[in-house]
Amino acid sequence: MKNLQNALLLKQLYQLKELGYKYTDEKPFTGEEQNALELPNNLGELKKQAQNCHLCSLSKGRNHVVFGEGNEQAEVMFVGDAPLEIEDNEGKPFLGRGGEMLTAMIEKVLGVPRSKVYITNLLKCHPLASKEVHESELHTCKAYLFKEIELVKPKVIVTLGEKAYHYLTNDTTALKEIRGTVIQKEKHTIVPTYHPNFLLKNPSLKKEVFLDLQKVRGLL
Ligand code: URA
Repeated sequence: MKNLQNALLLKQLYQLKELGYKYTDEKPFTGEEQNALELPNNLGELKKQAQNCHLCSLSKGRNHVVFGEGNEQAEVMFVGDAPLEIEDNEGKPFLGRGGEMLTAMIEKVLGVPRSKVYITNLLKCHPLASKEVHESELHTCKAYLFKEIELVKPKVIVTLGEKAYHYLTNDTTALKEIRGTVIQKEKHTIVPTYHPNFLLKNPSLKKEVFLDLQKVRGLL
């Protein structure tokens, strides 16, 4: 899978850079490694593979891999950024107060139970508070997210917060300018909105999220 190969290549290059290399003539991948890099074409197997993933240093500090959950044929996929401590302890995305806020957004505005949508994150492992997330970790983990998107085939992807939007689209427009816009990116429809944890701190923005999710509802 091209994306995972690129992620692994990038990881190797970052490692070499950290070791002081300015250039290398090494050819990082051979044809034989190709099959080993294929990600499985079903979510159960993909989850198992993620649970055994040690491709980046976040795997060293995690208690659980927090893989996506929900309806495997969901029309709507929500993408957050990374699990917090509570999710790391339980192995499920969006728990605690942020999770309650997300559930309310789904149930009250989309009008469906949380179990009807699919919820995942850019990163599947909790970055320790003391550790800054490295670009290469995001690149590596993105392969799992892209495969989840390919397998679930949601009609609409709702990105939660700026990081998820920027990372999925490569567009660096500020979230407050772009939120609620229906964006067509390759064959995907993306609607960016605020992160539930941001709403907890800024409850006056709930009405914007309400409008964004009403737009999502109109697309289904
Ligand atoms: N919990 C998650 O699973 N994702 C976030 O982005 C924040 C909290």
